[in-house]
Amino acid sequence: MLIRIRLILSLAVACLVAAVPGIARAQALDATMMEAIREADMTLAVTGFRLSTANAALCDRLEPGHGMQFHTLAQYAVDNRGLVATHFAFAGTLAVEGIVPGSPAERADIRADDSVVSVGGVRPDDALSKTASIDTLAKFVAAVAALPPAQPIPVELRRGGKRLSVIVYPVPACRTRYELLIDGGLDARAYGDLVRITSGYYDRFGDELVAAAVAHELAHNILRHRERLDAMGADFGFASGFGRNVGLFRQTELQADILSVHLLARAGYPADLASRFWQHPVAKGMSGIFQSRSHPHWKDRLRVMQAEEAKIAAAGAVLPPAPFVAERDLPLTGEWKDLIPRD
Ligand SMILES: [Zn+2]
Repeated sequence: MLIRIRLILSLAVACLVAAVPGIARAQALDATMMEAIREADMTLAVTGFRLSTANAALCDRLEPGHGMQFHTLAQYAVDNRGLVATHFAFAGTLAVEGIVPGSPAERADIRADDSVVSVGGVRPDDALSKTASIDTLAKFVAAVAALPPAQPIPVELRRGGKRLSVIVYPVPACRTRYELLIDGGLDARAYGDLVRITSGYYDRFGDELVAAAVAHELAHNILRHRERLDAMGADFGFASGFGRNVGLFRQTELQADILSVHLLARAGYPADLASRFWQHPVAKGMSGIFQSRSHPHWKDRLRVMQAEEAKIAAAGAVLPPAPFVAERDLPLTGEWKDLIPRD
């Protein structure tokens, strides 16, 4: 996937939404690019589904885990919508981009390129704006996520001109939408119920290691860091590296690092995945170039990861309780030094 993604980057960025707002004319997407985008979206969707369902017990905000990855015509530039509609066989504005293997949607025989009429009574918003926007998708996914997490979901589809009705039996999942931004840079963020990561992560770290970054962002959501930082009046901008903000951000970063090791373990990922991520040359470089004083140094993060991996390994078959989850209703303290193990 890596080479293909890199290949499409220069071309596809202009075709996609959030990457280039207000661009006058989008470059035409071809079939290879569209399939590369699908493959990239599905790689993240599979990781997200695995982490969100395996860790549902740690989440108080749940959604039905169904395994359908949706896309909408609305997210593509107007110039490309005709090509996109044909290639993905859109019979409406919203369709199944892909299905997570082994998921409830696969068991219900829902397939990639089925068009969506409704999911649990939720219908796609048919408004197609003149600019590319993921609002339609975000709204639809949020409404589906608000359905009961473990009740059967009636799904109405269109496939090859025919209307189909199936029932999906979802599994509870942590409520988080995973969004891949086709962008060569390195940017991963958690917004409470959204994890957004750039395709640059896949280009530089490879598919396997990116799961560690995704787990870190999901940990932020599970621990409600965004809203707790907001509640403390933390400054996410330039001032994040100064004053009281430093402690608050470092506390949340280290907590997310530590919890991410547990999330990965519970989802059955290799035991050293998180520490391998931080030993990757690109991760080391991120510490210097991309990260302000608000983020701990990679050496500290690596030590934290390794210590947590050792704890989990020592616990054997029974996983230890996940840290910080019980305190997620309490205000942040800004204390972070004690989170780094001493030699
Ligand atoms: Zn973080």
